[in-house]
Amino acid sequence: FSPETGMYTSKFPSLHLPVDPNLDAVSALFSHIHDGDDAASAAFVDSSTGFSISYTELRVMVKSMAAGIYHDLGVRQGDVVSLVLPNSVYFPVIFLSLISLGAIVTTVNPSSSLGEIKKQVSECNVGLAFTSHENFEKLSSLGIVVIRVPESYDFDSFRIENPKFYAIIKRDFGFVPKPLINQDDVAAIMYSSGTTGASKGVLLTHRNLIATMELFVRFEASQYEYPGSSNVYLAALPLCHIYGLSLFVLGLLSLGSTIVVMRRFDASDVINVIERFKITHFPVVPPMLMALTKKAKGVCGEVFKSLKQVSCGAAPLSRKFIEDFLGTLPHVDLIQGYGMTESTAVGTRGFNSQKLRKYSSVGLLAPNMQAKVVDWSSGSFLPPGNRGELWIQGPGVMKGYLNNPEATQMTISEDSWLRTGDIAYFDEDGYLFIVDRIKEIIKYKGFQIAPADLEAVLVSHPLIIDAAVTAAPDEECGEIPVAFVVRRQETTLSEQDVISYVAAQVAPYRKVRKVVMVSSIPKSPTGKILRKELKRILTNCVSSR
Ligand code: AMP
Repeated sequence: FSPETGMYTSKFPSLHLPVDPNLDAVSALFSHIHDGDDAASAAFVDSSTGFSISYTELRVMVKSMAAGIYHDLGVRQGDVVSLVLPNSVYFPVIFLSLISLGAIVTTVNPSSSLGEIKKQVSECNVGLAFTSHENFEKLSSLGIVVIRVPESYDFDSFRIENPKFYAIIKRDFGFVPKPLINQDDVAAIMYSSGTTGASKGVLLTHRNLIATMELFVRFEASQYEYPGSSNVYLAALPLCHIYGLSLFVLGLLSLGSTIVVMRRFDASDVINVIERFKITHFPVVPPMLMALTKKAKGVCGEVFKSLKQVSCGAAPLSRKFIEDFLGTLPHVDLIQGYGMTESTAVGTRGFNSQKLRKYSSVGLLAPNMQAKVVDWSSGSFLPPGNRGELWIQGPGVMKGYLNNPEATQMTISEDSWLRTGDIAYFDEDGYLFIVDRIKEIIKYKGFQIAPADLEAVLVSHPLIIDAAVTAAPDEECGEIPVAFVVRRQETTLSEQDVISYVAAQVAPYRKVRKVVMVSSIPKSPTGKILRKELKRILTNCVSSR
């Protein structure tokens, strides 16, 4: 911490990032994968079938697929393509092929409703989408070109069942003009509501993705006592979220690690997968950590022999979960990391040394990151031990929000500080602790829910005059969304009616899980919802029961 500037800098040495302005993220990635033993080892393995793609095959598949996408689907530099896909080993292949062409990928959670997908497709001007059979009809109804991605890895059978995808992934390279991609060109549009309002497209550039990868190549690799390529990671986090995407589709690939992909997290299956594939590293969100601990209690320790480290992020982890995990699997290192969609998931690096084990901390600032802790009343920058809003700065910070200069300006200061909306403090050793959130988002099992998105759905009901949404704490899920609803006087609209109405229009994880009928929504004279007041009413509701 520097008292002169009020700034915290990373304790790790700075990394030199590639300066070539025309380096694209895929070329940067493949420049780290060398021929030889590492290239022959598996990059991705499907957890249920064991089907694997080696690093050499990945390079070929990405090239073939890029040729197919270019020639057969007519995708050109700057086109936006949507991936509405569950986890699969094809996900990274499609993502990397698209961005190698200079196209822009926008990922959509596959459990999203038609309305949610339609909004994103229209905002991003999407003309083509890749999806699985569950969402094929939904996407086709939007009048865009839709490519169905097979679930099977048996090329002989899906050549007949799904000739279109087969033709693309098996295309002869042919001639594909190399696009001139600038590091500042957008590569991905991820969705986040930031500190306020509805979900917005977060513009991440090739530079942001390259910075994330370099962090792995130049820093992460130096943290192991053995080559990073011998690590086997379990990818049960959704690849459509920045946490999964930046780790499994970019960072770890550049280290040559093996990534075992689970279609979705299933606590009963996860233990078999850890044992079968000798998983060494398992990145999770808090509810996954809790489920893993519960399952591990009844299982012989031998099963977890290979597991070295579990890293947790995306939402607060309670002390109870931490203690329970450490008591159950004492040989496994537990770390927490912190990041945001708006920072390409880069922020801190969890860190336990022989001397210091601060499990409740989210770790030390990652290399090349700076931070400030800002007092929200005076605007002054606070020294260690003091809580304030966390601002961060670094090469992972987004270009801005899609078509939303006001929100961009509110979130990124003129001198490039990203206002996180999180309340935090650093201790004297440089460890960061996230203690609260001043932004509106609700975190349900690590997923973001924007109250403004749910409020828009609620007030579209003809019998609802006004509505507001806030979070209630929940031991298993972290937080759940609670709706405050003002209904028309003459109606009998029930709490359950409201829950069902919203559930029909949003992804299951974004459902309203509790409704409180009120006579008015607390608002400021300018009409802003007083969210602190909502929390107070909610606490009173619970304590008066
Ligand atoms: P997202 O953009 O969906 O990744 O959400 C980012 C937000 O998740 C952060 O601004 C925090 O509010 C929260 N978050 C991420 N990691 C942690 C963590 N380790 N502990 C507490 N909150 C976290």
